[in-house]
Amino acid sequence: MRKSLKLQVALVFQVLSGHFKLMQNINEIEDLIKLISKLPGLGPKSAKRIVLKLINSKDELVKPLANNLAQVYKNVTRCNSCGSLKSNLNGCNNCENIKEKFDKICVVEDIADQWSIENSNIFKGYFHILGGTISSLSQRKEDLLVNSLVERVRKEKIEEVILATSATVEGQTTAYYIQDSLKNCKVKITKLAQGLPVGGEIENLDDGTLFSAFKNRSKLNSNSD
Ligand SMILES: [Zn+2]
Repeated sequence: MRKSLKLQVALVFQVLSGHFKLMQNINEIEDLIKLISKLPGLGPKSAKRIVLKLINSKDELVKPLANNLAQVYKNVTRCNSCGSLKSNLNGCNNCENIKEKFDKICVVEDIADQWSIENSNIFKGYFHILGGTISSLSQRKEDLLVNSLVERVRKEKIEEVILATSATVEGQTTAYYIQDSLKNCKVKITKLAQGLPVGGEIENLDDGTLFSAFKNRSKLNSNSD
């Protein structure tokens, strides 16, 4: 019984690897595998498995996926004001379409950081997404939308800017740069407490650490005094 199970498993592997080899001979599929293996958390092996699944479900998956990707490509862009993603058809849900008014704005590096903070229910207020740090090689200073942050602070009559950048050298350099850019605004600037592990990325923190970092955030300037 065991032997036959082993045999079956071996057979399945053989069929699959044969399938993979077959798939690799087709240019379109090879390109697709290369693209999918660039996605986070996926290597060539899982990419092959995904492509195999796609090919076996062309009508249920490939067609709607292709349409959906085309729609996302066409209609979803980065918001020039807050740095979040927005639908060109409906406007930005992160800044334009918010009905509630807040007096705090939390500055984060990535959308994933915003999601972590939102999920933990620690903070109620606006978000500003830099899209990276000042030292990321691919990042131009103007892409961080700091000018637009200053504009938002003035326009929305913000009373506190919370800098929730990572506790890395890049994150802290970026925080300093933002603080400097806000020096002419009458606004309190705080940054998350060093309950954050050094080198810690916001996205990877558990709720407890994030909560204590928010609660113990420290004041950086005295503009609002
Ligand atoms: Zn926006």
